[in-house]
Amino acid sequence: MADEWDAVVVGAGVGGLSTAVLLAQEGMKTLVIEKDDRVGGRALSMRGEEVTAKGAEWYRRLLGGQYSYLVASEPSLEEMIAKRLLDGYTIDLGYHAVSVAGEGYFAMLRDLIGGYGERDVVFNPCLTGSWIDGQFYQESPLSNIQRLDDKLYREFKRIGKSFFDFFGPFLNATPEQLEGLDRVSLHDHLVNTGLSESSVVYDYLRCFGTLFTTINDPKDISMGDMTRYSLQVILPAALKGGTVYVGGFTENGIITWSEAVADRFRSFGGELRLDTAATAIELEGNEVKGVRVRGEAGEELISAPRVVFNVPIQELFKYVDEKAFPGDFVANIRSLYGYGSLSPYFGLSELPVPEDHAKRLMKTPCVVPREEGFDWDVYMAWNIQSYIEPGCAPAGKHLFTAYLPLTEAESHNRELVMKVVRAVPDFLEGVYPGFKDCIDWELYPVCVKLEGVAKSVTQAGSLKPDVKAPGVEGLFFAGDTARGYGVAMDCACSSGILCASAITSHDYGIK
Ligand SMILES: Cc1cc2nc3c(=O)[nH]c(=O)nc-3n(C[C@H](O)[C@H](O)[C@H](O)COP(=O)(O)OP(=O)(O)OC[C@H]3O[C@@H](n4cnc5c(N)ncnc54)[C@H](O)[C@@H]3O)c2cc1C
Repeated sequence: MADEWDAVVVGAGVGGLSTAVLLAQEGMKTLVIEKDDRVGGRALSMRGEEVTAKGAEWYRRLLGGQYSYLVASEPSLEEMIAKRLLDGYTIDLGYHAVSVAGEGYFAMLRDLIGGYGERDVVFNPCLTGSWIDGQFYQESPLSNIQRLDDKLYREFKRIGKSFFDFFGPFLNATPEQLEGLDRVSLHDHLVNTGLSESSVVYDYLRCFGTLFTTINDPKDISMGDMTRYSLQVILPAALKGGTVYVGGFTENGIITWSEAVADRFRSFGGELRLDTAATAIELEGNEVKGVRVRGEAGEELISAPRVVFNVPIQELFKYVDEKAFPGDFVANIRSLYGYGSLSPYFGLSELPVPEDHAKRLMKTPCVVPREEGFDWDVYMAWNIQSYIEPGCAPAGKHLFTAYLPLTEAESHNRELVMKVVRAVPDFLEGVYPGFKDCIDWELYPVCVKLEGVAKSVTQAGSLKPDVKAPGVEGLFFAGDTARGYGVAMDCACSSGILCASAITSHDYGIK
């Protein structure tokens, strides 16, 4: 019997959609199946009105389907819904800033597919700043990163270093050297460059490392991905003469990107089935035969010679017997770990921070010290999202969003997470007296897989599982748990491009 499809993509997350749109553009008959009622996966968004209409249980189930749960809220979610407190807000699954304001692999994909068609995806960029030991350090765009805050410049001078002592040596790194850097930690690199752990510069650079990798512990943060991203994405964008920002927010929520790519996919002849879950990937010998799915029409086997698995790879053996793969691959997958986070949302009655902070993505090295039972000091990145993207809050109100990275184990431990929940408003009140008085409501979603595979010295970049499965012909991976580079969503996108390249043999420009 002829195959129904050339390829079936399981999951409409950023990685799955990136692969699917490129395959469909090549003229391959491509089907995407997605278990949820919307595209985006962990990068999904909802309007407050939708939560109000569908209720607390619906919201909790939506989070649950994307490795997340609501650990606390104030008032209770039920009361927030009854009082329609979320109406007029757009929230994502949790904090979702887009790295380099969409000018990274997102831009590469956009150009490859000839734009988003009818849709417009607008990224509003933001500046960054750091808050270290009660001092504010303002930062220039990445394209002008050597322009340091005066206080920091003096500190670099005092210790006899410059910014380029830390990143300059890698500017001409070869791909082999970059692979070597995957195994080098930020901590080792900083100490080898002559920095003491107690210096402000160390904390400052660690904040950048954590922002990039979502890992708190600098001894676990890999230098490889950061360097690769700087060389392959940031530097070329800066050389084009544009201003490169660290991040930005998408107008109308992060889901807008996925919806636009899904539309483009359809315009190339692809088909997307929502509310359709894969239950197994069927093999014949060591070749893919298709995907068994459960959807509105019941159970069926969809035949295809290629399947792209966009679900975090740690779930793979629920769909395919591990005996189909070489033992070292199975052991590697079983050893992979991700990184979680607490990502609070606060509805604010007015702007409680100075404008120079409101226009920035702010970061601080420690909101809860490691002595409280954490792997490392818990860092926080925060934004007044509505200042950057006014559409995400009702007129006159503001939306605060933040993320505090937690290890996967910490994110499962509600007692530990609650220590962070309690610390966040206190920390903000300390920095911005009066902050607490401006809070209308608080929502504390936790995700246990912010990054599906942590960018650590044992699993970053080239150390991740390849996009082509070993041992099973026709099985591919796309997403932040497969080989790919860059920050979270951008990493999932780069992985999706690499995956399409492995299928079509096209060189899309990422190695
Ligand atoms: C709270 C939070 C905050 C984050 N903040 C940021 C940020 O600020 N910046 C950033 O760049 N990234 C951020 N991330 C990370 C980013 O969201 C992920 O790295 C990225 O979305 C992963 O995409 P993916 O395609 O790899 O996987 P996923 O998004 O997990 O996609 C997998 C898809 O497969 C579907 N699926 C699963 N099982 C099945 C099945 N059996 N059948 C059919 N479909 C199935 C899922 O529903 C999902 O749509 C954040 C993540 C979270 C959770």
